Amino acid sequence: MSIVTRFAPSPTGRLHVGNVRTALINWLLARRNDGRFLLRLDDTDRERSSDAHVAAIRDDLAWLGLHPDGEVRQSARTALYDAAFKRLVDAGRIYPAYETPDELGLKRKVQASRGLPPVYDRAALDLTDADRAAFEAEGRRPHWRFRLDTDAAISWHDLVRGSAHIDPAAQSDPVVRRADGSYLYMLPSTVDDIDMGITHVVRGEDHVTNSGVQLQLFAALGAAPPAFAHLPLLADADGGKLSKRLESFDMGTLRDLDVEPQTVAALLARIGTSRPVEPVASVDALIDGFDFGNFGRAQARVDAEDFTALNAKVTHLLPYDAVAARLPSGMDAEAWTAIRPNLTRVSDAEDWWAMIAGDVESMVLPQDRDFINEAGGLLAELDWSDDIWRRWTTQLKVRTGRKGKALFMPLRGALTGRDNGPEMAALLPLIGRERAIHRLTG
Ligand code: GLU
Repeated sequence: MSIVTRFAPSPTGRLHVGNVRTALINWLLARRNDGRFLLRLDDTDRERSSDAHVAAIRDDLAWLGLHPDGEVRQSARTALYDAAFKRLVDAGRIYPAYETPDELGLKRKVQASRGLPPVYDRAALDLTDADRAAFEAEGRRPHWRFRLDTDAAISWHDLVRGSAHIDPAAQSDPVVRRADGSYLYMLPSTVDDIDMGITHVVRGEDHVTNSGVQLQLFAALGAAPPAFAHLPLLADADGGKLSKRLESFDMGTLRDLDVEPQTVAALLARIGTSRPVEPVASVDALIDGFDFGNFGRAQARVDAEDFTALNAKVTHLLPYDAVAARLPSGMDAEAWTAIRPNLTRVSDAEDWWAMIAGDVESMVLPQDRDFINEAGGLLAELDWSDDIWRRWTTQLKVRTGRKGKALFMPLRGALTGRDNGPEMAALLPLIGRERAIHRLTG
């Protein structure tokens, strides 16, 4: 069987780490099995969905390297939903109900006062044709509910949770279509999963109950159900709901921090699993060994700082070709390799590059002035080659008797204007003879 997965965001806001993780796991499952990964835009909520959000979702996925093999938009597929809706109405599985929100609220209050769960009482199933006609004459339009089969528990083998059960009798018959004719999430999602040939539905555990309902919808529509995998939700560092702090975790914020896509993917692929979070230079490196067997059931905690910390390690792995377009002009592969170990993010290369090629204010303590003058004089006499730092400092040591910190720190200060940074042996050839002599003697 060829695996087909889908990522189904609602384009009502920027992607955040929670739904990016869902996208990533769907992508990994598909890629690991030479399957297909599809993007489905759940834009049935016309008010809250926007083209700008659709564009941002596509762009964020491309940035992450999670390229979909196809895309559908629910807003363009109403005819499919209408057909399925009609079939289920004809089969008696979807029925009209006329209660107003106030009437439903009142029913729930009465149930609560009797200690009963707020499950819809199915009063609409008892309406006669005359009752319905009377409501319609009043100007009421029905909303539509899917009649759950409450005879037996709904069970499935969840790829993350193991054996899963939902008691349909504890659920209200879900409303699948509003009085204005628009569809809620439940039916279109099932119709699409069937039509798109989805073999695995991978999503957050907040959808477990929906999966139970949707298993009945698959059956009612005569389709074999997909496999399900429900990922434990992510929590913030204090164990709180991520949804309360989404602004720190949306893709706009992470991208503005210049966090690499590999960082986002490396963290989100492994968090909550038994495998360690490891830096990778390419998102593809995460495909190998992907397995639902490694996922735990506990909530996984994530901190905005986890991304910045891992980002340094990822940056240290990035080859020049992968970053060249983002580096300051003139900065070549040699300079990148020298500077890379000091970076926590690629954009900081600019600052270090200025230290090599820009105007540097030398830092020389009064007590080191003579030493630096002597060092400058010696440097001017030496043949310039790649091992210049070693040859120069070896001779300076002999001449001045300085060693260790007393030898190296003043040289770094004079040449770079800083007291720390990349290896001087790599920096000096990049600074070059002319600039170096000028910084020492100027
Ligand atoms: N649009 C739904 C969501 O974002 C999709 C859920 C699903 O994967 O079916 O929660």
